[in-house]
Amino acid sequence: MSDRLFGTTGVRKVYGEEISLDMALELGKALGTYLKKGNVLLARDARTTGAMVADAFSAGLLSTGINVHRAGVIPTPTLAFLTRHLRMDTGVMITASHNPPEYTGIKFWKSDSMGYTQDMETELEEIYQSHDFNSVGWDDLGEETSLDSPEWIHIQEIVKRTNVDAIRQRDFRVVVDPGNGAACVFTPYLMREIGCRVTSINGQLDGHFPGRESEPDEDTLGDLIKMVKSSGADLGIAHDGDADRVVFVTEQGDVIRGDRTIALLAREFLQRKKGGVVVTTVDSSKVLDETVKASGGQTIRTPVGDIQVAVKMKEKDALLGGEACGVFIHPDFHLAPEPFLTSCRILEMMASRGKAFGELISEIPVYPLKKTKLKCPDAKKRVVMGRLAETLPDEMDDVTDVLTVDGLGISLRDGWVLVRPSGTEPVIRITCEAQSEERAQSILEDAKEVVQKAIDEVRE
Ligand code: MG
Repeated sequence: MSDRLFGTTGVRKVYGEEISLDMALELGKALGTYLKKGNVLLARDARTTGAMVADAFSAGLLSTGINVHRAGVIPTPTLAFLTRHLRMDTGVMITASHNPPEYTGIKFWKSDSMGYTQDMETELEEIYQSHDFNSVGWDDLGEETSLDSPEWIHIQEIVKRTNVDAIRQRDFRVVVDPGNGAACVFTPYLMREIGCRVTSINGQLDGHFPGRESEPDEDTLGDLIKMVKSSGADLGIAHDGDADRVVFVTEQGDVIRGDRTIALLAREFLQRKKGGVVVTTVDSSKVLDETVKASGGQTIRTPVGDIQVAVKMKEKDALLGGEACGVFIHPDFHLAPEPFLTSCRILEMMASRGKAFGELISEIPVYPLKKTKLKCPDAKKRVVMGRLAETLPDEMDDVTDVLTVDGLGISLRDGWVLVRPSGTEPVIRITCEAQSEERAQSILEDAKEVVQKAIDEVRE
C-alpha cells in the first residue's frame, strides 16, 4: 500500500485494499482543518461504496465545525458548477471517475468551480499525514443539510444558455448511454428539456457497472453504436462513471475522438469571436492545431489532466479547452468539464447548419494514431526519460519542435510522437500520429527502438 494518498488529481484507490472508511473520515477532518470554517458541498457517483465513504467523510468535516450540504448522486460537473453557483467554500465529489467498480476516490473543487491545484492537495495531504486535526465541542459541530434535486439547478442554467427553439424545430432523436453512472440522473432529462426525443441504454444507476466498462470508447460502446444505427438516431451520447466526460457517436455509428470534436467546436467559436486561444493537452491530434490556426486562433498545450487545462485557460483567457478523452471546458459558463453544454452546442450546430453530425465532423480530417507501451521499472523511469530528452530528438527525422510540458513530445514536419512514463503502471507509453497509416507506423517503430535502447542501457 502506497503511503501517499493523492495521485495525479485527488485520491483514487481500491476500496478495502488501499483505502478504508477510517481514511475517508480522517481526510474529512483534514479538509475541515485546512478550511478552518465554512460550507462544503458533498456529492457522490453511483459506486457501491459511495454512500458509506461520503458518510464517513461528512462525519470528519462535521467534527471540525464545517457545515456539510449533501447533494446525493450527481455528475461531477454538476458538483463543480454548484460549488460556485451556491457560493460554497469547497466542493467534494466521492468518485473514481472511469475506473473499475472496486475503486473509490475523492476529488476536490474550489469555490470558483476549478479543481484543487496540486499545491492545495499537497497541503491537504500534509495535514492528513500529521493527524493534527481541529476538533470542536458538541455545541460547535457543523450542521448537515440535504439539497433537493440539485441537478435541476444545473439543467436550468444549461437550458438558459442553449438555443432551444432551433433544436426543438428539428425534432432530433438522441440515444444516451450513461454507462450506469452519474449521468443517468442528468443527460436524458436535459435532452428532453431541449426538445429531443430520448432513448437511454444502461440508464439505471448501478455501482456494479453491469452495462459496460466505465471508460467510453470504441471498445466499450458497441451497444450504443448498434442502438444509434438501428433506431435511426441523429446522435449518440456516452459518458464515464462520474459523467465529466462525453463521447459522441455519429448517425452512422462512428465513435468520434474528443480532439476532433474540440476542433469542430473551436472552429465555430473562433469564427464567431474572430480569434482566441484554445487549450488542450499534449496528446491531442495535430488536426486541432491546424483547424484552430486556419480559423485565426492559437492552440496552447498543457500536461494531461482537466485541471491543468483549466488553470491555463484562466491564465490565457481562453475560448475553449479540452482533452482527447472527452473533456470539454467552456469558460463562459464555468471552469470544470462541461459535457452537457457541449452536447447542446453540437445539437445547436446540427440545427443551424442543417447537417448531420457525421457530415459536420467529416470536415475535420482523421489522422491515424498509433500507440504502444514498453516495460520499464518505476525506479528507472526518471533516468530513462532524461536520456531520451537528449537522444530521441536526434534520432527522429524532420523535427520541428520539442515539448517537455508532460513527458517528451516531439513535433515532426508530418506528425508527432509523445513518450510518457505511466503514472500507474511500470511502463513507458509511446503515442504517435501522422497523416498516413504507413508514416504513423514508421514513426512508431523508430521511436520504439530508441526508447527500448534507453531502457536497456539504464541500470536500476
Ligand atoms: Mg470522469
